[in-house]
Amino acid sequence: MARVPAIVVSSGMNHQIVEVIMSCPSCTSCNQLEFPVEMIIHFAGLKNVDNPDVSLFPKFLVCLDCGFTEFAIPERELRVLVLGTPVKGAVVWPTE
Ligand SMILES: [Zn+2]
Repeated sequence: MARVPAIVVSSGMNHQIVEVIMSCPSCTSCNQLEFPVEMIIHFAGLKNVDNPDVSLFPKFLVCLDCGFTEFAIPERELRVLVLGTPVKGAVVWPTE
């Protein structure tokens, strides 16, 4: 398991971790930056041709050393991907 860098503040005998800096899971670099992104997810394959496309506005955490990128799909948009149908409040592009 990779070591996780942390900033530790000491006061006498008490030590307190005030911030944990996650390193890149690919190269262990801490040189990462978060970017806001706009994206559309399409279902693949002819069998999914009637499923809606899903618009997302996630934040990507990009490793500036190796390019590894990670993000999480918000719960509401994830439900559209699971169900294959529009969900209230999600931005979807219905197929015609
Ligand atoms: Zn990396």
